[in-house]
Amino acid sequence: RAKAQGRNSYKIFDAQMHTQAVNRLTLETEIRKALEREEFIVYYQPIVDLLGGRLIGFEALVRWLSPTRGFVSPGEFIPIAEETGLIVQIDRWMFYTVCQQLVNWKTNFTHFPLKVSINLSAQDIRQASLIEDIDRTLAETGLEGNSIVLEITESMLIEDIDKTIDLLTQLKDRKIQISIDDFGTGYSSLNYLHRLPADNLKIDRSFVSQMEEGNRNYQVVSTIIALSNQLGLAVVAEGIETPQQLQWLQQLGCELGQGYLFSPPLASQEIETHLLKEDYEKLYQAHLFNALV
Ligand code: C2E
Ligand code: MG
Ligand code: MG
Ligand code: MG
Repeated sequence: RAKAQGRNSYKIFDAQMHTQAVNRLTLETEIRKALEREEFIVYYQPIVDLLGGRLIGFEALVRWLSPTRGFVSPGEFIPIAEETGLIVQIDRWMFYTVCQQLVNWKTNFTHFPLKVSINLSAQDIRQASLIEDIDRTLAETGLEGNSIVLEITESMLIEDIDKTIDLLTQLKDRKIQISIDDFGTGYSSLNYLHRLPADNLKIDRSFVSQMEEGNRNYQVVSTIIALSNQLGLAVVAEGIETPQQLQWLQQLGCELGQGYLFSPPLASQEIETHLLKEDYEKLYQAHLFNALV
């Protein structure tokens, strides 16, 4: 297209592509440095039981605090980290850090019953060493697999379904739970879904945020919940922002959820002072009932 518009637009196109390539390269170099300098931080977003109002766990979400760029959102650096394969190192670091944090919380807050969900990328599950790395981290930190949930998106699962089932089975052997993330946005092949040893489905935020009673998104959410019930999976709704959304999800029988209505992702220090040191069950119940009136 650029060519058809003559030599000048060709040049502009080249210049733009050049700038993009340079930006990418700069970001790649900075991500590498960020790994060395430990500029990544884990944030934890509460996941609650929508009917009883209890806090049941957290989703761990990576944050990058760059000395030059400030807070960089995952939306900006994860795609580049995925293209360059650096995501594998970031996710290994996340896994290790979350395991350490969980051991610490279990030691300092007795009867800490909470689970933490960690996101995996397609690159992670393609690594032959994934299970080995997980075993080593669990052994080194002394954490049991039953505190961990791994989130995997639909499209990652079907690349090689038999291999995926084998991998998920090995994770289940370690008592690690499996969550299918962003459900409804990828390929939903119902042929394989029942074969997956998964524990729950996460309804993507895009459906929840555009839900209106009886509209298409509402129907999609309702269908995903029915499907999960059929398959014996729990359902987690992402991105709950309003009391109205919460009420609809409760009506539809959605058991679990997360979203700004309850809490944004928080630094571990904030989780400790606001949740773990308080009577967090009561606190969350209060939130939930406030949201309902
Ligand atoms: P995700 O796994 O679907 O995570 C949920 C995203 O929704 C998070 O964005 C979270 O902050 C955001 N969110 C939660 N509640 C609300 C809400 O009520 N309203 C709105 N508008 N947003 C809400 P975040 O942290 O920016 O992460 C974006 C995506 O980046 C994640 O989507 C996940 O795919 C990826 N990601 C984040 N951390 C990691 C990581 O450690 N490893 C890998 N591989 N991917 C990660
Ligand atoms: Mg997730
Ligand atoms: Mg998600
Ligand atoms: Mg999502």
